[in-house]
Amino acid sequence: MALVNEHFLKLPNNYLFADIAKKVNAFRTTHPKADVISLGIGDVTQPLCPSVIDAMHRAVDEMGAVETFRGYGPEQGYDFLREAILKNDFLPRGIHLDIDEIFINDGAKSDTGNIQELIRWDNSICVTDPIYPVYIDSNVMIGRAGVQEDGRWSNVVYLPCTAENGFVPQLPDCRVDVIYLCYPNNPTGTVISKQELRKWVNYALKNDTLIFYDAAYQAYIQDPEIPRSIYEIRGARKCAIEFHSFSKTAGFTGVRCGYTIVPKDLTAATLQGERIPLNPLWNRRQCTKFNGTSYISQRAAEAIYSPKGKAQVKAVIDYYMQNARNMLASFRSLGLTCYGGENAPYIWMRTPGSTSSWQFFEELLYGAHVVCTPGVGFGPSGEGYVRFTAFGNHEKTEEAIRRIEKWIR
Ligand SMILES: *Cc1c(COP(=O)(O)O)cnc(C)c1O
Repeated sequence: MALVNEHFLKLPNNYLFADIAKKVNAFRTTHPKADVISLGIGDVTQPLCPSVIDAMHRAVDEMGAVETFRGYGPEQGYDFLREAILKNDFLPRGIHLDIDEIFINDGAKSDTGNIQELIRWDNSICVTDPIYPVYIDSNVMIGRAGVQEDGRWSNVVYLPCTAENGFVPQLPDCRVDVIYLCYPNNPTGTVISKQELRKWVNYALKNDTLIFYDAAYQAYIQDPEIPRSIYEIRGARKCAIEFHSFSKTAGFTGVRCGYTIVPKDLTAATLQGERIPLNPLWNRRQCTKFNGTSYISQRAAEAIYSPKGKAQVKAVIDYYMQNARNMLASFRSLGLTCYGGENAPYIWMRTPGSTSSWQFFEELLYGAHVVCTPGVGFGPSGEGYVRFTAFGNHEKTEEAIRRIEKWIR
């Protein structure tokens, strides 16, 4: 008899975006003529830029000729891409990485979920709240999160991020083994200053804590003072693993490519206290369970670092950030309280009065035919907030803004 991993059964079977889709479908059935605009799900809408498309076409042609065909690539990724990352994302900010510290992935979601295989099942984990659900759910699956009570997992330390603390989480008041940080943040759209991030690195060094740092939205940072990588902070090489993705940077959500940094200075302890470097462990894990990201995707990613590619990618990010500015200006002029949206493609809105997240979601859907994401779906501290994304096209976003203005007035 094969025994099932019962930890899976602890996962709540309602997935946020499935619940939203159900409610939107119910609305559509009763209002078949209504044109619903979604500012909900966190997916991009603009096509891949021409430099990326050209690179993909060239790579496809290479795959079609016997002289240039490529089979399995290196599990860690091709050097042409790792070198481009090193030269463009890190060296200009004074960060020196070894090429072996960069692991090309098939998107950051897999690696933010898989990375916890490197640590024992009984480590304590800590998250900021609200949060990207993958961090907790991947720990639930291996039995590290405990049991769920009132929307909280018993073995997870939650650090609330709310208007009351300006979305700056307090350091935990106890020792924890692992902390997940995500900046710019999904869902709140807020960022962390160098000074604040330094506190986390210092905490981690002092308490022997491992930081998993998700930088999926770093390309949206407009303010040059905001760190784009945790390695801008001295000492982070000894305590942090960082995740990057080309999904939001360059519209790769359907292409699949990103990268993970595992510094060689980073170690974790055995029960006997011996320090084990994590870089070779991750390399071993990848070689055993991963056969690399497709050559075509990696050539596509390389193209965003060419001068033309950089300009084209920036233009798309500017396009989305214009949506964010328009939404912020409108919502604020309506007297609504909003956060984020300045260095990230998300706006985190406080629901008016004591309206709950789901209640506001339904009122907005029925009143303005616009879909947002209920904040409580990202964790208990998200109650009383909703998330709007800037990933729509201009026309639809403008139309949604007009409808919300009319509805609120
Ligand atoms: C979108 C997103 C990612 C990236 O996911 P991919 O698998 O690279 O598409 C990672 N982290 C967060 C917080 C995200 O919102």
